[in-house]
Amino acid sequence: MLDVWVAGAGMTRIGRRSESLPDLMAEAAHAALRGAGLERPDAIVVAAMNPEEFVGDGNFASYVATHMGFAETPAIRIETATSSGAAAFYAGFAQIAAGLRRAVLVVGGEKMTHLDTPRVSELIGRSIDPYERSYGATMPALAGLVARALMAGHGVAPRELAQVAVKNHANALRNPYAHFRRAVTIDEVLDSRMVADPLRLLHCCPISDGAAAVVLTAAHAGVRVAGIGQGTDTLAIRHRDVLTSFRATRAAALAAFAMAGFGPERVDVAELHDAFTPFELISLEDLGLVPAGKAGRATLDGDGARADRRVRVAAHGARRGVASGGAHCARSVDRRARDEQLGDPAGGGVIEPIQGSRCPACGLTVAPPTPFCPRDPVEMTPVELEGAGEIVSFTTLHSPPAGFRSSLHIALVALEGGARFICHGAETRGLRIGSRVAIEAVDDVYYFSHLGALDRARLFWRRAGRAGDRMHAITRSLAKRVWKGKERVSS
Ligand SMILES: [Zn+2]
Repeated sequence: MLDVWVAGAGMTRIGRRSESLPDLMAEAAHAALRGAGLERPDAIVVAAMNPEEFVGDGNFASYVATHMGFAETPAIRIETATSSGAAAFYAGFAQIAAGLRRAVLVVGGEKMTHLDTPRVSELIGRSIDPYERSYGATMPALAGLVARALMAGHGVAPRELAQVAVKNHANALRNPYAHFRRAVTIDEVLDSRMVADPLRLLHCCPISDGAAAVVLTAAHAGVRVAGIGQGTDTLAIRHRDVLTSFRATRAAALAAFAMAGFGPERVDVAELHDAFTPFELISLEDLGLVPAGKAGRATLDGDGARADRRVRVAAHGARRGVASGGAHCARSVDRRARDEQLGDPAGGGVIEPIQGSRCPACGLTVAPPTPFCPRDPVEMTPVELEGAGEIVSFTTLHSPPAGFRSSLHIALVALEGGARFICHGAETRGLRIGSRVAIEAVDDVYYFSHLGALDRARLFWRRAGRAGDRMHAITRSLAKRVWKGKERVSS
């Protein structure tokens, strides 16, 4: 494998820009080429998340190459949602390392601010698992689930989470390319508008326009790429075992450090993807830059302080990721119809079985069922799961996507039998991670409800089998009566 060097880099100012996306990309690309002292690259790799939807242009690599004066230079486009830029760098690196090309221009950009926020959120939300999207899950909603798990399960304090935004806004203040060049305080972050409980506006990235480019060469230049790695994980958040660590990040870091021949102890500056503040804390630990469970404290103490030395965590604040707001929805639910049906023995009020499937190879159980295991190329075995379980995390979306009522409560529930399940709820008052809930379906939409003592007894007797039949019948009739009473009170 050949050594790969970064010979030049260019970037536009990030923010609300009047130029077209090809214009922005040309600005960044020509700056990078000038920096490299290169007139013409051997190949171009273009990163854009979904220009077909955002700006209405397809065949985007050829379009951008032609637009910047390189119609005859081979160009390909790379897309991996919000990591498209990094993936394009990887593809450019691979071409040089393999000896296919001597000089590759890698250029990425997005143009989003000309669309209104609900539309932008909907377009970005298309990169979310379709089933979870159909429950109103948006990028902020999924980040909210992660943030709550991080705070409740790992003891990350609100001030620690807020400090990520404070630090990155302070970095942006010193960055002439940044979208928002203004300092914020912890109190401002904690007082900003709630977006996806517990995440507030200043925990989330803005919607921006801009582009960046690098020139990679086989010829010796200023910076050598010591190591590079790529990782992925299941698209659906419900198919993941943990919310507070990202498998994709760990896999990518492992590969990059292995190639480099050294570990995180030699890293002086780290620039992390911080679309939402909890992601930076998680990445700090997944990359091994701070010990597990210490990222929040380290951030509060100053740029990712370590016991022996300091790592500069430099998220430049120019464009902190992509999304803020709601996303695509697939169904609209009438709250009143739902309230009328829940607690009615004919329409709900009974814990019902949920169809799922189990992997014969790794044992992963999923709901709803999938034909193949997300982690293994084997066919899944159908299973029936109990419609009850424990809350893994939950969030309330205060600006839910079009078609959903505000405020939208979304929970991730670990069902009896192992599968994790995304569902709606009528309320989250008194709800905690670990709370026992029952799952009910109304018109094929699943809802969680808190489980009272009688409902738990009902579940127990159901599991106890035939011996408990008589008690089961008594408990069930009692439970139904209580359930109906409760629903009447709350509606
Ligand atoms: Zn499997």
